[in-house]
Amino acid sequence: MSDSFTALKARYADSIMNSYGRYPLALSHGKAQFLYDLDGREYLDLLAGIAVANLGHANPEVARAVAEQVQKLVHVSNLFYLTLQADLAEALLATWRPGRVFFCNSGAEANEGAIKLARRYMRKVKKQERYEIVSLTSSFHGRTLATLTATGQDKVKDGFAPLPEGFVTVPAGDLAAMDAAIGERTAAVLLEVIQGEGGVNPFDAEYLRGVEKLCHDRGALFMVDEIQTGLCRTGVFWAHQHDGLHPDIITVSKGLANGLPMGAVLATPEVSAGFEPGSHATTFGGGPVLCAAALKTVEILVRDKMAERSARMGDFAQSLFANLRAAHPDKIKGVRGRGLMIGIELAMDGQKIWEALLSRGFILNLTQGTVLRLLPPLVVESQDLERFAKALDEVLSEA
Ligand code: PLP
Repeated sequence: MSDSFTALKARYADSIMNSYGRYPLALSHGKAQFLYDLDGREYLDLLAGIAVANLGHANPEVARAVAEQVQKLVHVSNLFYLTLQADLAEALLATWRPGRVFFCNSGAEANEGAIKLARRYMRKVKKQERYEIVSLTSSFHGRTLATLTATGQDKVKDGFAPLPEGFVTVPAGDLAAMDAAIGERTAAVLLEVIQGEGGVNPFDAEYLRGVEKLCHDRGALFMVDEIQTGLCRTGVFWAHQHDGLHPDIITVSKGLANGLPMGAVLATPEVSAGFEPGSHATTFGGGPVLCAAALKTVEILVRDKMAERSARMGDFAQSLFANLRAAHPDKIKGVRGRGLMIGIELAMDGQKIWEALLSRGFILNLTQGTVLRLLPPLVVESQDLERFAKALDEVLSEA
């Protein structure tokens, strides 16, 4: 640990709330799939700020769009019309289905907005007393009171009771449990098609289609949280498109503005009618600089066919990790995921493995204690993945 890092840690202890378990690393700058610490050491970033810097750090085209917009107009509020908001909404809907967009500032806020929209749509448009939100065990939907209640992990709820009413959690992947849970009070089901924080858990198409059908047959909405899986990460623009699903609402954030804080709720025109002027709002949502960054990001994702690239790179990574698994059957339990959202489940506590990889210059995440989670910038190269696989091979051999 360098002196500058030790000094910075001490300043944090004296000035910043201790709400994060941080990695022992202070970063100074980045370029594409690489990050540099305070001493100038280079790291291969296989995390992208948790699925955010999809087009790479300091992407020059996004940086230019932001720099130009910052000098023109930064904020006016949603009391005004902005051409950029309409441009971005149209660009997003072109990747999904006809609908309407609500812009906000984070993933939790997008899910909070989706929950509010579902409830208000049921009351005001459908005239039905449906308010319950059904979600899954091991899910993750955010840290606001409503979204942590929807999150199917006790650790995020610890100490925050009383929690809002009207939330039901059912075992993930169990269609019979979902069947039993969706009733006359259900407003919507909210799920991730591949759970991220929960350990990179994909669901099979049959289950997902079954849940969608149950929702539609019983008059509940089907909402997909695409905050981690969306924007080309899994090999298609939206992960639910793998399985031919047609959610009524999807939520987006993380990589939407390639690193600037932005979220969005996308809903069908009918469901969008649940919001009227004054019913839901946020000061900064869809501000000019954020929209300029996001518009450029979405343009590049489409122009450079980043979904196909993620699929190709993901297949390559999966083949490397399958070989590793064959070489270390006692240490790697399984490899999961799709495209560039990959979980390598270890048969042991992963902390030491993660530390050894970090010390060799690889940044990734350890989730659920045993799953090495890779969410690299989508611009990652095959030689980067090969270099990582070689390092993991060495680290596992030494473990
Ligand atoms: N939903 C999913 C699937 C996520 O992975 C996350 C964050 O990791 C969120 C919601 C919450 O997003 P944010 O941290 O921007 O509030």
